[in-house]
Amino acid sequence: RAKQDGRGVFRFFEPELDAAARRRRQVELDLRDAIRLGHFELHYQPVLDLKNNRVGALEALLRWRHPERGLVLPSDFIGIAEDSGLIIAIGEWVLHEACREARRWPAHVRVAVNVSPLQFRNSGFPAIVMQALAASGLPPERLEIEITESVFLEGEEAVVALLHRLRSMGIRIALDDFGTGYSSLSYLRGFPFDKIKIDRSFVTDVARDAGSAAIVRAIVHLAKALGMDITAEGVEDAAQLSRLRGEGCDNIQGYLFSRPVSSSEVDALIGTRMEDAA
Ligand code: C2E
Ligand code: MG
Ligand code: MG
Ligand code: MG
Repeated sequence: RAKQDGRGVFRFFEPELDAAARRRRQVELDLRDAIRLGHFELHYQPVLDLKNNRVGALEALLRWRHPERGLVLPSDFIGIAEDSGLIIAIGEWVLHEACREARRWPAHVRVAVNVSPLQFRNSGFPAIVMQALAASGLPPERLEIEITESVFLEGEEAVVALLHRLRSMGIRIALDDFGTGYSSLSYLRGFPFDKIKIDRSFVTDVARDAGSAAIVRAIVHLAKALGMDITAEGVEDAAQLSRLRGEGCDNIQGYLFSRPVSSSEVDALIGTRMEDAA
């Protein structure tokens, strides 16, 4: 009898779908353990200010130190963390940790934290940010929050209100991966971001493709006209750098200056100027 019931269940079994679903379920379970056991760490990538060739900020980038899989990158788990809602707990840890570490950096160095749409729209988000600042003692002016256009997909008005609220606390707001969304320009009209980050896909070809160069130039001009600061992401070589400088870009970030490094390597990096590295 029991066997027959068992077979009945298995009639709906789709092996391939099930393998993918099981894998996701396993990652989700592993993520729960990782939260409980403290298996996350933040790496930091410097953002270089081209006015003085010094590090003006560091972007916190989440890493998962998995007991068997080693260091796992966000692309392998952020999606699952978002779908399962676990990103809210993980993101809270990220904010606390980033503010705590940034507190001991020189006062002119800010920390940038990526915030996912689900986390951002969670009603507890402003309180979590305030707690992270209060617990660490980091001045709000030294925290930069990076969001992508996808936060606007559900209810633009509420998002803009929240952005103004964070801004009024003194926090800086950056629009990440600019140019990859569907209606980037309307979001720029809707909220005065402090900073725009040009997506790596435009930066990669900026020195060898006239189209990419024209887009970068247009984004830089637009940002300037709106009073926003501009960072180019994913700068890997000197040709890209000199092109971006020529276009009037304010900051660069990318492997040319430094890959993301562990927190113990941050201090040495903050003292490094561009001439020393590239
Ligand atoms: P992002 O915020 O656009 O971060 C930039 C990504 O580009 C990082 O990948 C960084 O390591 C990589 N990168 C930097 N310079 C270069 C370069 O010169 N060449 C190339 N090829 N890549 C470069 P990473 O660390 O794997 O993070 C990927 C994405 O995961 C981030 O994109 C961000 O959207 C998300 N993410 C990272 N940390 C967090 C977090 O704490 N919370 C949330 N919600 N998302 C995060
Ligand atoms: Mg980012
Ligand atoms: Mg980005
Ligand atoms: Mg990106």
